[in-house]
Amino acid sequence: APGLYLVATPIGNLEDITLRALRVLRQADRIACEDTRQTQKLLNHFEIRTPTVSYHMHNEGSRTEELITELKTGARIAVVSDAGTPGIADPGGQIVTAALAAGVDVFPIPGANAAISGLIASGLPTERFTFHGFLPAKAGQRKTALEDLMRGEVTHVFYEAPHRILDTLADIDAVFGPEQHVVIARELTKLHEEFLRGTVADLRTQLAARASVRGEIVLMLTLAPIENTAEKRKITLAAEVSAMMKS
Ligand code: SAM
Repeated sequence: APGLYLVATPIGNLEDITLRALRVLRQADRIACEDTRQTQKLLNHFEIRTPTVSYHMHNEGSRTEELITELKTGARIAVVSDAGTPGIADPGGQIVTAALAAGVDVFPIPGANAAISGLIASGLPTERFTFHGFLPAKAGQRKTALEDLMRGEVTHVFYEAPHRILDTLADIDAVFGPEQHVVIARELTKLHEEFLRGTVADLRTQLAARASVRGEIVLMLTLAPIENTAEKRKITLAAEVSAMMKS
């Protein structure tokens, strides 16, 4: 059927592409890619010859208009990001909004997603969790963002860059204390897939002992429940007030 297809692609292991994703990519009139060169490797691997067009942060606005015009004439356009599910810490959101406003059908083609993959094997509670995408890249802002989390028993799932992981663990240590339990899922589905589970102090020591930390990372933690002591309640109230001021 004509419409906009949001197609999930692998986050490492190429076998994680779905049969439906392959068919949709093959049958699409065009594939809008975050990075055409990156996606071309995937398309070559599966011998898919559909033409590609770039669709990223910097041309999202103008490209959206162009693609919507095409969609309105009955085209089938697939959107993919470099890896995983489009629209999740990746481009895709803007064209979905525009397509819906233009009366174009939007179809999700589900598949790999790093946050969910990390979460389901983390051993942390999965019933409720909050996805935050990337933490702020600047140290000061990141610490504030972490301080804002001083609430409920919810699992927090972050994506993190390998060159920042040690700094971020140091901030977590400073904000929540060295005993805070954290889980790191690195290189999911790839050859060097690795889960590290332990206190932030342990994980800092383990990672600091390595020559370098490479690869892609999902970082997860659940805060200990805040008891209703007067002192802790004060902290919660202060956090609530600061959140209100920000919104
Ligand atoms: N849209 C993607 C998804 O659905 O998961 C996420 C895109 S975001 C720009 C990329 C970040 O996701 C990486 O910096 C890393 O934190 C995380 N990530 C992606 N692939 C991963 C993998 N194989 N293992 C661990 N983390 C991964």
